[in-house]
Amino acid sequence: MENLLALNACFMAIQLFDSLSRTLKPLKASQPDGVIRFYNCGPTVYAAAHIGNFRTFVVNDVIRRLLELEFGAAKVKHVRNLTDVDDKTIRRSQEEGRSLADVTKQWTEKFWADCKALNCLSPHEEPRAADPKYLKAQVNMIDVLLEKGNAYRSADGSVYFKVNSFPEYGALSRVKERDLQLGSALAGKPQTADADEKEDGSDFALWKAWKAEDGPNKWPGPHGASEGRPGWHIECSAMSKAILGETIDLHTGGVDLLFPHHENEIAQSQCCNGTTFANHWYHSEHLLVDGKKMSKSLGNLYTLDQLTAMGHSPMALRYALLMGHPRKQLNFTLDSLHAAESALKTLREYRATLPETTTGAHEVFGHVLTSLNDDLNTPAALGALFTIVNRKGGEADRASFDRVMFALGLDLKVEAPKAAVPAEITALAEKRWAAKQAKDFATADTLRKELTAAGWAMLDRKDGYSLEKAKS
Ligand code: AMP
Ligand code: ZN
Repeated sequence: MENLLALNACFMAIQLFDSLSRTLKPLKASQPDGVIRFYNCGPTVYAAAHIGNFRTFVVNDVIRRLLELEFGAAKVKHVRNLTDVDDKTIRRSQEEGRSLADVTKQWTEKFWADCKALNCLSPHEEPRAADPKYLKAQVNMIDVLLEKGNAYRSADGSVYFKVNSFPEYGALSRVKERDLQLGSALAGKPQTADADEKEDGSDFALWKAWKAEDGPNKWPGPHGASEGRPGWHIECSAMSKAILGETIDLHTGGVDLLFPHHENEIAQSQCCNGTTFANHWYHSEHLLVDGKKMSKSLGNLYTLDQLTAMGHSPMALRYALLMGHPRKQLNFTLDSLHAAESALKTLREYRATLPETTTGAHEVFGHVLTSLNDDLNTPAALGALFTIVNRKGGEADRASFDRVMFALGLDLKVEAPKAAVPAEITALAEKRWAAKQAKDFATADTLRKELTAAGWAMLDRKDGYSLEKAKS
């Protein structure tokens, strides 16, 4: 890592599109210590994250890596939360008759394992919303909002944020002109289970009073409120403040979080702290399947486990997720994984041709890094990389190439796993091998056709055979 950072010479500063100002802006540290404070909204841990979620986390991992290259690893503080208490996590624990902690621990560990397989760097801190320390931070923040008149208690002991107490509400999503009118028009009419308690349809819950379906999951609330649990939005405001301070340099998430989640975070934080919450907002676009957002609720998802069971490597998935511009929707296909696997093979072979001794010609890959720093243009970066790779030779050396692999987070040591061979396929192959040994070629041919129809290719050698899954 150190020698990667030492090669900083021709580095253009990273610029990202800022969703609030709607301009491309360089990333800067706002505090005198020069540390970039980076908060990325994390997963809700009630099931395996799908590869759409991982598009967002891989994109954020590239941001983290580019920040480290530019500012130095010690000057980047990356926080990503775990939503381990909300409607979905509680519902799942109630359905399964397990404690909330048990369910969320299982899916947190799965999330970590998938992140590791995808070569995502661990955030420096990963606060959990249900951690007593952070529950307290959330309650404290709600207390301040109540004191300042930005929040009110409802009859059932919940607490709501009063949207019209914050004139800047809507600046991020420009929602004011559209949905807020809708929200007001619907005020008084129940839109959600909570809506009948709100003073205005656009107000949102900071604290949710306990209901029977919450089971044993309840905690002491803010001043004068009932026992219950925090609303979802407050966790990010409270935890980012507790760890990174009142003003952060970069806040990110998938585009679906822009409204209402991030709009509400701004309202809560700025009303509580009286200062700018985040200097830069970056939102990456969705991964689609057949033109629709991949989501747990639509059930049109792939998990990393499903793809590895088909014989694809996590690194191929990472590569495929980077093939599209992060601020454009990307339609996922299994074919893109084949293309990614062969690109990784080319990169492995190319690296093997490079001299270990440093040639000092770091600018060889300058265009790749410049493309990444230019609003994370990953397809342009991969294009520039392959222009160099296909040219072969040149002045590149391993250190400069490895620096590019570090930025993209591509670990070339990871090979595609061999797909597990189902027992019935092994049985067919054994039968065919025996037929062939017995020179019963007609039976051997029939059995080969059966294997092919089942999606497997049998490769014969003199002394035995191997099985390969046919490309789907
Ligand atoms: P969740 O676990 O639902 O809170 O989502 C975790 C992250 O994944 C958030 O930043 C979402 O915006 C993001 N996300 C959800 N669905 C997709 C998708 N289909 N493509 C890309 N990112 C997504
Ligand atoms: Zn958040």
